[in-house]
Amino acid sequence: MRFVSTRRRESASLDEALLRGLASDGGLFLPEELPFFPADEFRHADSIADTAAILLRPFFAGSALCGDLDQILEETFSFPVTTTRLPDASGHAELLELFHGPTAAFKDIGAGFLAACLSRLERDRATRLTILVATSGDTGSAVAAAFDGRPGMQVVVLYPDGRVSERQARQLTCWGDNVLSLAVDGSFDDCQSLVKQAMADSGLAARYRFTSANSINIGRLLPQCSYYAHASLTHYRRTGRKPGFIVPTGNLGNALAAVLARRMGLPIGGIVLATNANRLIVDYLQGAEWQPRASIRTLASAMDVGNPSNMERLIELQGDAARLKQELHAVSVSDAEIKRQIRDDFDAFGFATCPHTATATFAWRCLPENEKREHDWIIAATAHPAKFEQIVEPLIGQPVPLPQSLLAILSRPARFVAIDADLKALATVMAQTFHLDEASVAGDK
Ligand SMILES: *Cc1c(COP(=O)(O)O)cnc(C)c1O
Repeated sequence: MRFVSTRRRESASLDEALLRGLASDGGLFLPEELPFFPADEFRHADSIADTAAILLRPFFAGSALCGDLDQILEETFSFPVTTTRLPDASGHAELLELFHGPTAAFKDIGAGFLAACLSRLERDRATRLTILVATSGDTGSAVAAAFDGRPGMQVVVLYPDGRVSERQARQLTCWGDNVLSLAVDGSFDDCQSLVKQAMADSGLAARYRFTSANSINIGRLLPQCSYYAHASLTHYRRTGRKPGFIVPTGNLGNALAAVLARRMGLPIGGIVLATNANRLIVDYLQGAEWQPRASIRTLASAMDVGNPSNMERLIELQGDAARLKQELHAVSVSDAEIKRQIRDDFDAFGFATCPHTATATFAWRCLPENEKREHDWIIAATAHPAKFEQIVEPLIGQPVPLPQSLLAILSRPARFVAIDADLKALATVMAQTFHLDEASVAGDK
C-alpha cells in the first residue's frame, strides 16, 4: 500500500513512511485507501494481536515487513489491554485500560510497534539509526523503553531539567547503553528546537542517521486502531450493540485511530473527544477558525497541545468542521473539573483515574441522559494514576499503589547528562557517548 502526504505532493511506501515520519512536503502520511471489514471477518480473532493482524495486514502489502507482522504484533501486545466495567445504574460504561505497558501509558503501544518495525527494517544496515526525541515527560519514556537494548538503534531523549516530575525523570533515565538521556537547561520548546537544529545539520545528520519517532509517525497511529477494533468487536459480539468511545485528546493521535477504525467498518458508535483547557478542537467544531495557539499548562499535561498536528489528517480524511461535527463531539475540561472528577471517580469506582483519563470520565458524566441510556460507552484510560501521584494522591487522600512496571523502573539507577540548550553541547555529548572508541583514539594522538 502507498501512503500519501496530507499536502499531496509526496507518496511513500509503508517502510519509507515509517523511517521518515514526516513527509518532505511538511505533510503527514495517510494510507492511500482504507480497507473495509465486515465484522464477520474477525470471527476467529480472540486476542487483540489476532484482531490487529487482520486489521493491519492490508497496510503491509508490499512492505519488507509483511512476513514479520505477526511477530511485530506479539511484541507490541506483550502486555494486556483490559476493560473494567464501571458501576453505573443509568447505562453501560467501561474503562479500556491502555496503561499496562512498560511506562504505564498508552504511548507504549504505538512506540513499541514502531520500534518493532524499525528494528526489522534496519536489521541489515551497517550504521545505527538515531532516534532523537524532545519530551515534556511521557513520550520520551515510552520511546526510550521501546528502543531500549535494540541492536542497530540508539535513542537520544531531551527533557527540560527540573520541569518533569520526579517519577517522570526516573522513567526517562533508567535505560541501557543505547539510550542517552539529556537533562537540558531550558524549556520543552528549547528541547524541541535543539532536535530540529540537529536534524537540519547536514554533518550530524549524515553521521547519526536521525529519525524522530514522534506521534505523527504513521507507525504510532496504525497499531492504536487495534484496541478500538478489538474492544468494539468484543462488545458487539456480546451485546449486539455498537459502543461509543470517549478519548482523552491532545495531539489527536489516539482519537484519530478511533475514527480510522470506525471508517474501516468496525462496530463503533459515537466518538467523543475530551480535551483539557487547551480547547482549540472544541472551538473549531463550534465554528471558530483553526487558529493554533500557545499551549496552556494544565493538570493533564500530556494533553497540553496548542496546535494538534493530527487535525491535518482528520480534515483530509473527513472534511472540515461542518462535516466533522456530524461525526464527533468534543468537550473541554478545566483543571477544577479534572480535580473534582478524580475525587468523584475514586468515590464511585473505588480506584483512582489519572488526570487525562479524568477528562474522559468527566465527558461521559456530561453526556445527556438518553445518550447514556440508549448507548454503551467505552472510556479510554490513557495512563496509570501512579504516574501522576503528586496530583492524584492529595485528592483521594491516600497513596496509589504502584504497578509492577513502574516499580521495576523506579528501582533502577538513573543515568543522564546535564547539558546547556545548545547544539554544540548536544553534538559533544553524543560523540562522547556513541563514538567512545573514535574519541579515545583521537585523544591518544
Ligand atoms: C499523549 C497522551 C494523551 C494524548 O494523546 P494524543 O494522541 O496526543 O491525543 C492523553 N493521555 C496521556 C496519558 C498521554 O500520554
